[in-house]
Amino acid sequence: MPLHEKSTVLDSILDDIYSSKDLFIVMPKYKIPNKEQLAIHAYQVVHDELMLDGNSRQNLATFCQTWVEDEVHKLMDECIDKNMIDKDEYPQTAGIESRCVHMLADLWHAPDADNPMGCSTTGSSEAAMLGGMALKWAWREKMKQQGKPTDKPNLICGPVQVCWHKFARYWDVELREIPMEGDRLIMTPEEVIKRCDENTIGVVPTLGVTFTCQYEPVKAVHKALDRLQQETGLDIPIHVDGASGGFLAPFCDPDLEWDFRLPRVKSINASGHKFGLSPLGVGWVIWRDATVLHKDLIFNVNYLGGNMPTFALNFSRPGGQVVAQYYNFLRLGREGYRKIHQACYNSARYLAKKIDKIGIFKIIYDGYGGIPALSWSLKKDVNPGFNLYDLSDRIRSRGWQIAAYAMPANREDLVIMRILVRHGFSRDLADLLVNDIQHCVDFFEKRPVVNGSNADESSNFNHG
Ligand SMILES: *Cc1c(COP(=O)(O)O)cnc(C)c1O
Repeated sequence: MPLHEKSTVLDSILDDIYSSKDLFIVMPKYKIPNKEQLAIHAYQVVHDELMLDGNSRQNLATFCQTWVEDEVHKLMDECIDKNMIDKDEYPQTAGIESRCVHMLADLWHAPDADNPMGCSTTGSSEAAMLGGMALKWAWREKMKQQGKPTDKPNLICGPVQVCWHKFARYWDVELREIPMEGDRLIMTPEEVIKRCDENTIGVVPTLGVTFTCQYEPVKAVHKALDRLQQETGLDIPIHVDGASGGFLAPFCDPDLEWDFRLPRVKSINASGHKFGLSPLGVGWVIWRDATVLHKDLIFNVNYLGGNMPTFALNFSRPGGQVVAQYYNFLRLGREGYRKIHQACYNSARYLAKKIDKIGIFKIIYDGYGGIPALSWSLKKDVNPGFNLYDLSDRIRSRGWQIAAYAMPANREDLVIMRILVRHGFSRDLADLLVNDIQHCVDFFEKRPVVNGSNADESSNFNHG
């Protein structure tokens, strides 16, 4: 360092955030401090603590996006002050939401996609609440007109994501969840029909079941419901939980009929922040047309200026996620979505082969007939010196988070591991992961777990 720069160097040393005396003190954790801090110091403390969170890109348990382009970061920043509900003040953001609804109605083959009915939400959970409520209101209206009681609604589904359990409990609907039996891990038309009666508000097949990643057979269920109607007169609608599949099937499996091409499908939800490739905080629900959404569910609000119809559980909500969704639609088009998702399918199938080769694992889902993912259990006849909770724990030492969890009723005996292959998980990373799994297996061979695992069986299952 030249001498004449000494003073500036000294200044920058004093500026060093870790040399400041604030950082010798402990910041309060559970009470708001009395005194203020400099922004850079408070920032550094928070930033450093966040370093201890897992590395999201290595979190193979989540369905949610963990890689986004720089342009998305920019748009999110530009929208940080925009309130989605304030459609009068931010008419362009509102317009962009409406265009996304049009695009999705078209993507999912709504019969009148020029006049779509739908909205953005904070995710599929809120979207499921809205879809479920619309089913309940429509059913109640129908029953009232027939002079029948409306106190015992039920909803039929396969092994669903927890949001449907919440819907059922919060809105007082009996959930008739079809349990798994043997190798049947999803709903079948026969099991659905067994549970139908005049109090059934709808059937919810999942396109991409959380536990196993498979698509439930929407079309076969649809046909069975048609037959049921011919025989009994019961006319039961379908809502598809397309949290994952809604953004996959249209691009990678366009001939699969699961959407509004099937007349009984009245509404669909999907997570923009999963395979919609948008940042966390956006979901969608679309109805086939205006007639299936009871007018009592729509509120007209005028306190922000203008008169706005809304159907949502939240009021204020950030606009950036919706804007980022629109950006992705423009940026990627059908071609881009297909390319990205196809690459993920290919990597999932490749990983399934590699993991099968290790020899001790039974592949349960290999990336065909569902979402870009794979799952496996331990083979019955092997004794590798560990269980999948141990493996999940051990692989974490390399930063990988891979969920190990037990199946729901009636297959609680079956413990599996599941990997979601998402945008940003390259073939290269996949190879490194297989090496790491092999190292873990070798490690346990030398040092088997003696007294079984201490892993908390419920703690590391990521539902979303
Ligand atoms: C993730 C998921 C949900 C919940 O969606 P969020 O966007 O996380 O609220 C609902 N259903 C299925 C099938 C899911 O995979």
